[in-house]
Amino acid sequence: MPGRNFLFVPGPTNVPDRILSAMHRPMEDHRSSVFPELTRGILRDLKAVFRTDRGQAFVFPATGTGMWETALVNTLSPGDRVLAPRFGQFSHLFIDCAQRLGLKVDVLETPWGEGAPPDRIRQALAADTAHEIKGVLIVHNETATGVTSDIAAVRTAIDAAKHPALLYVDGVSAIGSLPFEMDAWGVDAAITGSQKGFMLPAGLGIIAMSERALARRETAKCARVFFDLGDMIKANATGYFPYTPSIPLLYGLRASLDMLLEEGLDAVYARHHRLAEGCRRAVAAWGLTLCAKEPKWNSDTVSAIMVPAGINGADVIDVAFRRYNMALGAGLSEVAGKLFRIGHLGDLNELMLLGALAGAEMAMRDVGIQVTPGSGVGAAAEYYRSTAPALGAKGNSAVSPDAQSRVAGARPTGADKARAAVPA
Ligand SMILES: *Cc1c(COP(=O)(O)O)cnc(C)c1O
Repeated sequence: MPGRNFLFVPGPTNVPDRILSAMHRPMEDHRSSVFPELTRGILRDLKAVFRTDRGQAFVFPATGTGMWETALVNTLSPGDRVLAPRFGQFSHLFIDCAQRLGLKVDVLETPWGEGAPPDRIRQALAADTAHEIKGVLIVHNETATGVTSDIAAVRTAIDAAKHPALLYVDGVSAIGSLPFEMDAWGVDAAITGSQKGFMLPAGLGIIAMSERALARRETAKCARVFFDLGDMIKANATGYFPYTPSIPLLYGLRASLDMLLEEGLDAVYARHHRLAEGCRRAVAAWGLTLCAKEPKWNSDTVSAIMVPAGINGADVIDVAFRRYNMALGAGLSEVAGKLFRIGHLGDLNELMLLGALAGAEMAMRDVGIQVTPGSGVGAAAEYYRSTAPALGAKGNSAVSPDAQSRVAGARPTGADKARAAVPA
């Protein structure tokens, strides 16, 4: 099929050309004398993305799931209790991982569409006067429902209960896209992977651990081999890895960090918020609702859009793929068929997202959802127009000063005049 596949699942995300080029290189000796430069720079700059001075970052040839395991096995012993709200497929799988590792999970069942409940967490911890609960497991951005939880509020809840439990945060679809403050929020294990905000293929597990969490290695009795942070710390200290790293992915991560830090993390967060807000305007214009039950939980990286009763969300996704070469995210498990998801994270701008919104409108109409053609696209486009940086403003890096002066001084062309003559 000519043209690009429109990839709008919430991971893997689009890999920008700069990262693709950075990864396109021959293999090299990962034990050479220059290799540590690459390792050290990456581990240093990751700390900036996690926003931690005191914590330590690690990179594994793995995925986000492997980092759940890494966080747990390096800090806990079989039979330890942990507390975890379940409000979507990823919080469910995080809990499942803990259970299969032999931990006892106190599950706080929470309606899908809501975020982590700080009050119930505080109560559960306050009731645990013997401090048997060793950790609190939270998915920061529940990718299945498009819900972002308030991690600072969870930290406040833990502190209000004066409880020593560690705070484990799955930030797989958050870190590098949504504001994330490892040190300020007192996060002990911050978990992510390469294929979402980092704009890379899947294949790297990325994690940062607090000093407190790393100290638990002394007493943690869960079996660990591949994911043992002890081996990683020892090898990383000299700039190497305990086993063969994925060299293309490390060069890709180098480019990804350069891109994120050049744009500036605050600008990256603001871009994601603005893109997401346009998508939400479109959903409202379609007369549809999000799975997120309150605006405070709206995710800036993925919107889960409920389809009307009698419609199967999977049909929207299937038609979008087969007729329009666009990939949308499916409803998972409890919300299968009830929604479709638009991922809006990573290497993305307004017009790319407008294309996805147009495709979603077409696919929805094809399966019988009576949205007004152009309504969502129009609402989002007007929002983007009204919030676009002024020409010449800092941050509008896509337009060079040279191009801007050409625009400012442009004379109407013949084509412009012809257009102006056409009645609106
Ligand atoms: C994608 C995702 C994961 C799973 O990560 P893998 O890299 O597929 O193992 C975990 N948690 C969240 C919130 C995710 O979005």
